[in-house]
Amino acid sequence: MASASTAVPGTGRAALSIDVEDWFHTENLRGVIAREAWDRCELRVEQNTMRMLEILAKWKARSTFFVLGWIAERCPQIVRAIAVAGHEVASHGYGHELIYSLEPGKFRADVLRSKKHLEDLTGNPVRGYRAPCFSITPWAVPILKEVGFEYDSSVVPTVAHDRYGRLHGVEAGKPVVLLCDGFYEVCVSCVRLGKLELPWGGGGYFRLVPYSLWHRGVRVILRSGLPYVFYIHPWEIDPGQPRVKGLKGANAFRQHVNLSRCEERFTALVGALEWMPLCDLIDLWKAGSSGTQPQSLPA
Ligand SMILES: [Zn+2]
Repeated sequence: MASASTAVPGTGRAALSIDVEDWFHTENLRGVIAREAWDRCELRVEQNTMRMLEILAKWKARSTFFVLGWIAERCPQIVRAIAVAGHEVASHGYGHELIYSLEPGKFRADVLRSKKHLEDLTGNPVRGYRAPCFSITPWAVPILKEVGFEYDSSVVPTVAHDRYGRLHGVEAGKPVVLLCDGFYEVCVSCVRLGKLELPWGGGGYFRLVPYSLWHRGVRVILRSGLPYVFYIHPWEIDPGQPRVKGLKGANAFRQHVNLSRCEERFTALVGALEWMPLCDLIDLWKAGSSGTQPQSLPA
């Protein structure tokens, strides 16, 4: 494995996260596959997650897996395989509802159901949460803390996406933020281009941008002394996923762009850096090992 560590505090820390959901859970497909139809869709998440586990094992990389509760109930073997391989099991909520579309009480029930189920499966506390489609909103933070999470990783500090949520005080250049007592936000990475912060942490952007350019951007982030935080979904390495009639425009593009090249790119990126799960990044940050103390901000 190539070493990216240097003597500069914070440089070379790369944290990997995988949002474990299936191809039909995406917001892109909401208009063409109803929630009630999910149980009739072909489950492909197990084979894709197992493939990702193989890639990580080859490069001795460790990751956080934000597992959707809906998946954990139907495929508990995936959660056990993730835990046995030494990765962090975290929560992607239960039903993949955008937070700002839910009442606070329903949100609390959704995250609690997923957290408890994952903890029952692994026997370990679940520390982290990631909102579906990064739809975090300020009222959700005290609920996440109250039900026992230690961190959220749902902010991409950019204006370049219409669905992403925001939290007060969380912005580009602050990769880990202490939101309230004992509760942290870990941002997904962006790279600065002029005055713009471009999403550089994964998703359709990772599939769209040529790999050599993407890798250059990652090095720029790491050299700046910030950690690099990346995310991907198992369905993104699956070009064989069903094509649904009626999916058009931006949604079709976001779902399908360069799926056939993604496994190769993911493998190259995993092999290019030393990866840790997000919980390790927070522990390093808490210990001051990253060289920058967390900033205390109102929730
Ligand atoms: Zn998701």
